[in-house]
Amino acid sequence: MKEDCIFCKLANGVFDTVTVYEDEDFRAIMDIAPAAKGHVLLLPKEHMADLLEMDENVANKALPILQKIANAMKEEFRCDGINMLQNNGKAAGQTVFHLHFHLIPRYDEDHVILPWKTLSYEEGEALAVANSIKKHL
Ligand code: 5GP
Ligand code: ZN
Repeated sequence: MKEDCIFCKLANGVFDTVTVYEDEDFRAIMDIAPAAKGHVLLLPKEHMADLLEMDENVANKALPILQKIANAMKEEFRCDGINMLQNNGKAAGQTVFHLHFHLIPRYDEDHVILPWKTLSYEEGEALAVANSIKKHL
């Protein structure tokens, strides 16, 4: 646990929080300032800042849990969709630097999350960008 990390304390039960799911590695809680009613955060109990630092155990286990909670939300809320979001770094909108996944129930025309403005690539640019990433893989 990281001493000054609020999500370490919430995930590990040091501070009380409304919990929807818990196992030995994770806790899923209700977001304190929800984008929509039912907004859930899935937190690993172990401290890691973000996706880039995520360990393999968490990587392997997170997605099935998110799927299970998403299905439960869909069944209960009868929502039209669900966003699964995950921010890495301040520039990407991360405000709490302990890895977490958002699940946000969505309804037709709710406009809760605005779509991004799209760009376009010049001829051959997408391939060049793809190759620039690929060389680090
Ligand atoms: P981020 O912007 O880092 O992806 O998301 C952080 C989320 O954590 C926000 O949606 C925010 O409302 C939520 N949050 C911040 N502090 C607390 C807290 O103390 N308790 C709970 N339940 N959620 C929190
Ligand atoms: Zn932490």
